[in-house]
Amino acid sequence: MEISEEIKEQKKYIEKIKEINQEKDRFYHILTMGCQLNENDSEKLCGMLEKMGYKKTEKQSQADIVLFNTCCVRENAEERLFGKVGELKNLKEEKGIIIAIGGCMMQEKHITDKIKQSYPFVDILFGTHTLHKFPENLYKALKEKKKQEDIIDIEGEIYEGLPIKRDSKFKASVTIMNGCNNFCSYCIVPYVRGRERSRKPKDIINEIKELAKQGYKEITLLGQNVNSYLRVEREKNIPFEEYEEVNSFATLLYAINKIDGIERIRFVSPHPKDFTDDVIQAIAKCDKVCKLVHLPLQAGNSKVLKEMNRKYTKEQYLELVEKMKKTIPNLTLSTDIIVGFPGETDEEFEDTLDVVKKVNYEQVYMFIYSRRVGTPGDKMENQIPEEIKHKRFDKLKSLVESQIAQNNKKYIGTKQKILVEGTSKNNENMLTGRTDSNKVVVFEGEKELIGTMQEVEIISEHMWYLKGETKGTVFKCLTEIVAK
Ligand code: SF4
Repeated sequence: MEISEEIKEQKKYIEKIKEINQEKDRFYHILTMGCQLNENDSEKLCGMLEKMGYKKTEKQSQADIVLFNTCCVRENAEERLFGKVGELKNLKEEKGIIIAIGGCMMQEKHITDKIKQSYPFVDILFGTHTLHKFPENLYKALKEKKKQEDIIDIEGEIYEGLPIKRDSKFKASVTIMNGCNNFCSYCIVPYVRGRERSRKPKDIINEIKELAKQGYKEITLLGQNVNSYLRVEREKNIPFEEYEEVNSFATLLYAINKIDGIERIRFVSPHPKDFTDDVIQAIAKCDKVCKLVHLPLQAGNSKVLKEMNRKYTKEQYLELVEKMKKTIPNLTLSTDIIVGFPGETDEEFEDTLDVVKKVNYEQVYMFIYSRRVGTPGDKMENQIPEEIKHKRFDKLKSLVESQIAQNNKKYIGTKQKILVEGTSKNNENMLTGRTDSNKVVVFEGEKELIGTMQEVEIISEHMWYLKGETKGTVFKCLTEIVAK
């Protein structure tokens, strides 16, 4: 079936379930595990559920449907999922709720086998390639009372036109490509998300223009390998429709930069090998593209990088950093690092610390290597004992924390433009937002400032946030008086 026909078909199922739910109070509870791409998928699931007449609840006990959107990148996510599913047994028996599990983990056979065997009360299992068919699977589970398993292993498609319910009114994630062709030896993503495929430039630009009209200020472009947008299409001469001259990641950035109303553009997750000169130039020239760039290192030693199949050496990575620092004014960098990859020696780990010292990252996401079934890394014999991995992790953590503490001091007395995101979790009277470099800033202000860009002067620093002061409240009140 054509993709557009498939979506039309699913919309019919949405209407059928809406009819069933008419004049009834129906609730769904969703738990999302993993990355921003998964969160974006969950926003689509929420969009579909709300069109069917369900309302979101944070209370699992109130829900008629409990949905888990899973991630398989980290090992402990499996244990967490099994624990959560186990907890639902009583609710299923008492209320007859529908339990659905989707996402990356469902593309792994050993996981679905375990669910079917140990948790036979689960109603729907769906994978990464069948998210759009959730309405049909739910309808069949409700009407036919039959278990639905809808998991396919394909290279992957792009589905447009699914309803979406976004979590924020001013920050939005927009998926621009899906899948990955890189096959890093520790990573399960290429096996569960399929091959790289990019959305059409027209669909992305129109979605962002629409978001700008609705008042969204910050856009995060998402993809497993975001800066290789349209690369496969170009290399394999697969025809694609250019729109507003967009034919690459760099030209996409220029086109989004021109959209009125959008004030900030971020993107995750890129690959160092795809930071071509045109992309670096685009980041430098587009005033709305944040100058915090995520540049995943994973390891600082060239031999380990080769084993990881990362396609760059320590030297090439550092050269890239130098080039970016020279070309992009006010550049700050964040990264991902895996500690304890199979075969990594103490000396090789020292190379990672060396890169961290040289680059001086603004943020580092640190991970202890965990084996993923089905990846080459899992089959490597020289696995590192847990206590060594933990010791290395602690060493890296203390280096990173000392750098962050040092870097935070540079902010004192500076004026930072922030997008105000909400009230502080710890103090209702304080607001929080983020700088261009993604630092959390806490400051006193009126709730009306939420969703606006404000200039804040940084007055003190703490390990995980900065404290600021703004004249924004006074300014806003005065403009309101003038307007009246
Ligand atoms: S680039 Fe490597 S780490 Fe990133 S999704 Fe692809 S295989 Fe995984």
